[in-house]
Amino acid sequence: MDLSYILNELGEDRATYFNAVAPPIIQSSNFACRTVAEMRFMLQHEAEVHFYSRGNNPTVSMLEQKVAALEGTEHAIAFGSGIAAVAAAVLSQVKAGDHVVCIKKPYTWTNKLMRYFLPRFGVEVTMVDGTDARNFDLASKENTVLYYLESPNSFTFELQDIARVTSYAKGRNICTIIDNSFASPLFQNPAAMGVDLVVHSATKYIGGHSDAMGGIVCGTRERINRIFEAEFMTLGAVLSPHDAWLLLRGLRTLPLRMERVAKTTRQVVAYLQQRDEVAEIIWPFLPEHPQYYLAKKQMRNNTGQFTIRLAAESLEEVERFCDSLQHFLMAASWGGYESLIFPVAASYRDGNFRSSMPFTLIRFYIGLEDPEYLIKDLEQAFTKMKR
Ligand SMILES: *Cc1c(COP(=O)(O)O)cnc(C)c1O
Repeated sequence: MDLSYILNELGEDRATYFNAVAPPIIQSSNFACRTVAEMRFMLQHEAEVHFYSRGNNPTVSMLEQKVAALEGTEHAIAFGSGIAAVAAAVLSQVKAGDHVVCIKKPYTWTNKLMRYFLPRFGVEVTMVDGTDARNFDLASKENTVLYYLESPNSFTFELQDIARVTSYAKGRNICTIIDNSFASPLFQNPAAMGVDLVVHSATKYIGGHSDAMGGIVCGTRERINRIFEAEFMTLGAVLSPHDAWLLLRGLRTLPLRMERVAKTTRQVVAYLQQRDEVAEIIWPFLPEHPQYYLAKKQMRNNTGQFTIRLAAESLEEVERFCDSLQHFLMAASWGGYESLIFPVAASYRDGNFRSSMPFTLIRFYIGLEDPEYLIKDLEQAFTKMKR
């Protein structure tokens, strides 16, 4: 399917809404039936029809069709947040007595789900270094039902060789789930590498304007309908029609934004490479990165996140650098129009680091600003860092 067709037309039926170019926000919880027979049909096919908006809503369905097409899967199901999508996908695969193999250091709340939440319900989780695909195989047991991937993963961006991990999974009849938020549905398509369920935080690149939250799970119609009937309908983490509409609007410009972010990020990284204040740049798209060839193989392009290790001797130096930035905002998340930093130093509390990572690490996200504007900001902050 053509990318332009997916983004501009797929799932849109303009003749049914006055030929409006922008889709309507169908802000309705309920959809009425004319006859008992029709209602009976609706109740029996709730996953496929518009009957009640905790199930399906027409504006939300448009988003689901487009993201499924971008990921090359049959179907998708949208949630009110990325972590709701992660949790529903994971819960859909496990029961008490099962075993899961998950990468070390996934997204914060995925980590909570794996380490604290699943064990409460009798699901055992082994966390492995995913940079060596064999670790998934080695950690597998008789009762392993799920491999959970995030490639590249949050903050330090370790990759997994997706095709190798799924080949181990297929041999053992194990389901694979990947959090593909980092790469966006444009720059990596894990379903083509054998992954069963592909999850996105739509809050990030898909929305792209830092004004809406959402999540989405992509997979076969059978797997997605199973999630619909169980985790989706019972946990009820629905996406509102209005937020779906904002995410649809974000999708229209996804290719433009991704190209811009990719290019500006390369320019900013090239600048940072020349600075003595930067001891290390953690980014899989630098030729000296140990997983550079894997990144080139399974991703189409770089995105806007990377992490630097400042050559700082003290917490004060890190703070002075971060506090001096005038155009980079200090915030969580990424994927919007605005450039951001997330310093590990912010997790320093009561004289202790709650994080196992060094306090000199700062995660960057490069947004849509002019590269020179960002570089000038970095330049002035570096001069204030050492004082
Ligand atoms: C932000 C994020 C999530 C969670 O998404 P929300 O929309 O914030 O719930 C999950 N995974 C990754 C990799 C993320 O960056």
